[in-house]
Amino acid sequence: AELRELLLSRISDVPDYPQPGVMFKDITPLLADATAFGALTDAFVDLCARHRADKVVGLEARGFILAAPVAVRAGIGFVPVRKAGKLPGATLGQAYDLEYGTAEIEMHADALAPGDRVLVIDDVLATGGTADASLQLIRRAGAEVAGLAVLLELGFLAGRQRLESGLKGAPLEAL
Ligand code: 5GP
Repeated sequence: AELRELLLSRISDVPDYPQPGVMFKDITPLLADATAFGALTDAFVDLCARHRADKVVGLEARGFILAAPVAVRAGIGFVPVRKAGKLPGATLGQAYDLEYGTAEIEMHADALAPGDRVLVIDDVLATGGTADASLQLIRRAGAEVAGLAVLLELGFLAGRQRLESGLKGAPLEAL
């Protein structure tokens, strides 16, 4: 409960960003506060242990910032999932629906091995589209989803419901 209050106090609301009518949750104040960022990192590291993860996947771009120190502190590898066209090697791609149109994310085809247990980390769970696509990529690589962990879940967008089938029983943790 204390962690939750600390984290929430370092996330600010930006109205009408990136479009009119949207209230954007800005995590940059949290990143700038060493105590809060450290406590968040520790909490993600605990989740790695609890769910026996041996790889951390970070989702571009804020997921990279959160996941990289977790991987270092947990002593496990970091794997980036990027927007299409950014990774240099052979990739697996996964398209997903946006409110208007589609988007695609990619991961290096050899980044995960069968049997790897992966914790996916991102900053904000909104509709769940991005996270759902990442879970599909991980499974297509033959790896196991140990869990999905986010800093903030926007409950009113029902991402948790959208992810129910994709998680296949793996835990969704919102700090
Ligand atoms: P979704 O695919 O769940 O609809 O959107 C989640 C993705 O969009 C995440 O990668 C997240 O970084 C970004 N996102 C959506 N809304 C917000 C927001 O209010 N604040 C932040 N920081 N990221 C957001």
